[in-house]
Amino acid sequence: MSCVSPESKPDWKAYVLRELGQDAHRQAEAHLATCSTCHEEVATLRLTLDTLSTLREEEMPRRIAFVSDKVFEPRWWQRVFSPTFAAGALVAAAILVHGSLRPGQAQVDAAVTKAVAQVEARHAEDAQIIRAMADMIEQRDKQVANIYSATLRR
Ligand SMILES: [Zn+2]
Repeated sequence: MSCVSPESKPDWKAYVLRELGQDAHRQAEAHLATCSTCHEEVATLRLTLDTLSTLREEEMPRRIAFVSDKVFEPRWWQRVFSPTFAAGALVAAAILVHGSLRPGQAQVDAAVTKAVAQVEARHAEDAQIIRAMADMIEQRDKQVANIYSATLRR
């Protein structure tokens, strides 16, 4: 048989700890004799209590330590070997190495000057070609004008 209504179930923790009154204790025992679900629950509670009773008794700490206490502050070598510090040091070293290996400003300036000179030379060539084409077009215009005026004179 199992519990009909969970609300009418006795307080098994109080029962196991012998905190129930005499009448309530007797009623609980009567329920326990007929209810397999509660029998199991009480067995588990007794097992838990037995296990707890095997633990060594320890004295309460007299002083509670806080994380902010000096005792918990890391030593200088603990800080140096902490992952955060190591990562920061690695990034700083990488920046320094990169700074010393990258090309100097003079090299950058020389490369820019060379590139600008190449582009300007190409522009000068293009300008010459355009001027020559403009001259040719002008000559053609003059020839066409001469032919036209010669045709009108006839
Ligand atoms: Zn029950």
